[in-house]
Amino acid sequence: MPSHKTAPGKKTTHAYKPVSGWELLEGKNDRIEAYARDYTAFLSSVKTEREAVSYIRQRASKDKNLVCMENRGRALALCRAGARPLEEGLRIVVAHLDSPRLDLKAKPLYEDTEIAMLKTHYYGGIKKYQWLARPLALHGVVVKEDGTSVDIVIGEDEDDPCFTIEDLLPHLAGKAQYGKKLEDAFLGEKLNIVCGTRPDTKAKEEKVKKAILDLVHKKYGIVEQDFTSADIEVVPAGPAREVGFDRSLIGAYGHDDRACAWAAFRAVMDATRVPWTTVVLLVDREETGSDGNTGAKSLFLEETVWAMADRLKRQVTPSRVLFRSRAVSGDVNGALDPDYPEVHEKNNAARLGYGVCITKYTGSRGKAGSSEASAEYMGWIRSILNRKRIPWQTGELGKVDEGGGGTVAKFLAEYGMDIVDAGPPLLSMHAPFELASKVDVYATYLAYRAFMEEP
Ligand code: MN
Ligand code: MN
Repeated sequence: MPSHKTAPGKKTTHAYKPVSGWELLEGKNDRIEAYARDYTAFLSSVKTEREAVSYIRQRASKDKNLVCMENRGRALALCRAGARPLEEGLRIVVAHLDSPRLDLKAKPLYEDTEIAMLKTHYYGGIKKYQWLARPLALHGVVVKEDGTSVDIVIGEDEDDPCFTIEDLLPHLAGKAQYGKKLEDAFLGEKLNIVCGTRPDTKAKEEKVKKAILDLVHKKYGIVEQDFTSADIEVVPAGPAREVGFDRSLIGAYGHDDRACAWAAFRAVMDATRVPWTTVVLLVDREETGSDGNTGAKSLFLEETVWAMADRLKRQVTPSRVLFRSRAVSGDVNGALDPDYPEVHEKNNAARLGYGVCITKYTGSRGKAGSSEASAEYMGWIRSILNRKRIPWQTGELGKVDEGGGGTVAKFLAEYGMDIVDAGPPLLSMHAPFELASKVDVYATYLAYRAFMEEP
């Protein structure tokens, strides 16, 4: 890529040698940087699926021709009517808004060793040791008994306090950590948040816990039982950052999968004329299997088609529209890791800086748990990307039988639509600080937009 006919300054060859995105987009640095700035601002202020929905919804509301449908504040569909009748099918880009994190339990607060602590249950695939001894923030919503709700963000402003999980000192970690397998050395039940040590000196017992409860009540009007009706997420504190002397990378919490959600949103905003009715579907719960009423397995997509049909005054059956649709599943892939090349198969691993990664199939152990894009669909996608000179590459998550993973693609494929995975490759995927290349996130946006605009 691009094809031998269009490769710049290259002799005609029948070999396929991927071209760096930086090379292919030479001279477009202003656009890459402008996109990166906007995306970085989004990542810095959005750390949860709820915050993503309200941020994107607010930006989208400026476009009167874009229809927004929200599902319980945690999933969102953005629809733009196309020139062709709805019954002929849709163009869909789906991505997820949730990221791996720690959630507070229903009864989180306790006191131990005169330290007030909060109990958590992790969400999604995390390496537990990465969450120790680093600044953390609380984001979420508390619904009080009278039905009113309180939005919470603590730990992001410089003046805010933050939270943390303490780790054992190396001097005493011999038996408890170093001598154990990684999975036994760091236990989910020990991921407890340090949240205070100042006692209420007048209290009889649990003096620190009492002081914290009084403080939280005074500040937020919250009593202990309110935690039972709350969604509070513990996430890495602080903004997204440029990384490297050359600032070519963005380091942030939540590239997976807000890189794709953001690219899809920007693409549908900028693609003002689309041939097919276009839907950007932003879902929740992907990191735990897409279950639940806001996940990709819910009928929210069908509900979106019903609503669009009403609006466009068309009589349609959603499953038939979806059967005739074409989709891109926006999700990240793992980039070839310079420190752990042994987990990759070098020819088929995605590389940082080589553009949007098109993943024909995901899954593990013999492609299990994956919908696979057909040769015909891959051929169609490839021809669009080459024609528009968009940096792209193929990628497969790790060596055969090394591990694996899946995306929401297979849940949409159940309708019979064509779908393929496309998104930027990451280093440190699922870590509190993930790395993405600026050129790859920009290429992802270009690819989604080209897909939406293709006749
Ligand atoms: Mn993902
Ligand atoms: Mn993920």
